[in-house]
Amino acid sequence: MGDLEPALCVRDLTVTFTTTHGLVRAVDSLGFEVRHGETLGIVGESGSGKSVTSLAVMGLHTSASVSGSIILGGRELTGLPERELNRLRGRKMAMIFQDPLSSLHPYYTVGEQIAEHHRVHFGSGRRAARERAVEALAEVGIPEPRRRVREYPHQFSGGMRQRVMIAMALSCEPELLIADEPTTALDVTVQAQILELIARIQQERGLAVIMITHDLGVVARVAHEVLVMYGGRAVERADVDTLFTAPAHPYTRGLLDSLPRFDDSDDEPLRAIPGTPPSLLTPAPGCAFAPRCPRLARASDQERSHCESELPLLDGPAGHPAACHFPAYEGIAS
Ligand code: ADP
Ligand code: MG
Repeated sequence: MGDLEPALCVRDLTVTFTTTHGLVRAVDSLGFEVRHGETLGIVGESGSGKSVTSLAVMGLHTSASVSGSIILGGRELTGLPERELNRLRGRKMAMIFQDPLSSLHPYYTVGEQIAEHHRVHFGSGRRAARERAVEALAEVGIPEPRRRVREYPHQFSGGMRQRVMIAMALSCEPELLIADEPTTALDVTVQAQILELIARIQQERGLAVIMITHDLGVVARVAHEVLVMYGGRAVERADVDTLFTAPAHPYTRGLLDSLPRFDDSDDEPLRAIPGTPPSLLTPAPGCAFAPRCPRLARASDQERSHCESELPLLDGPAGHPAACHFPAYEGIAS
């Protein structure tokens, strides 16, 4: 969009929870940027800290301790008073979730909910807000919007409900949209339609999008840049083509290997990465992926002890850093 300044700039984001078992470091020293008109895919297994990250950006954590810097449209969000954040939420940034029913009120029509959202943020009159709700439903491709604004959330199918959420999220024309597993609950055809819808609106508005998913297939379709998370940390960042053709981190390669292939028969099980995600309560001193790392299985004792004792930092080429002591960059055997 010609904007030099990214829409969102996150630096050193750390989110911890105090639990009865001790301190849980759900997100640790995370940094990324999202430019106007571009999509950052954040990918990682369940529990890797994706949702905790998105809630932190939205300022929605109530019980966590959040530190670091979150700059949206040039403004620092961390430390802002709740009232300010409330205003920015919805107005400058919006979020959609896997389950739209959890964020839609069952007792109000979808029209009332979109209109109310619009009224709160723009102070528009009731009639204008209602008219805006009809337009918003039309924009996200809901047929017969004038009739459907008067219906309740349960009267919509899963895909149509997600469209309603998108309409609501976009009705205040935010600059940043965070989509947290927006298509996980949908069947593949509807999933493709929703992803296309988000991409179309993004192009029309120059919206910055964070697409959070455990599914690399989704990332391949929509992302420009990808951030791979493991155990609350970024382990690799690259543009989408590089990530798929030349992944540098063994974890990313594991994720790619677990993607269903074109020639796979339907009944062949997906190859998940063996082993379990790391403990966030008592992190090991070295690389969190070491216990599952296929490369370490055939490494020398010296290499293994290095990986198990030294935390690898996100490092390497500026456009393609990886947090691995033995990354597989072009021409370098990992
Ligand atoms: P995902 O990548 O699947 O979205 P989350 O961001 O939801 O993962 O969670 C990352 C980790 O943060 C979880 O595995 C959990 O251990 C921890 N966590 C999240 N919310 C809380 C909470 N309210 N209290 C304690 N720990 C939490
Ligand atoms: Mg999640």
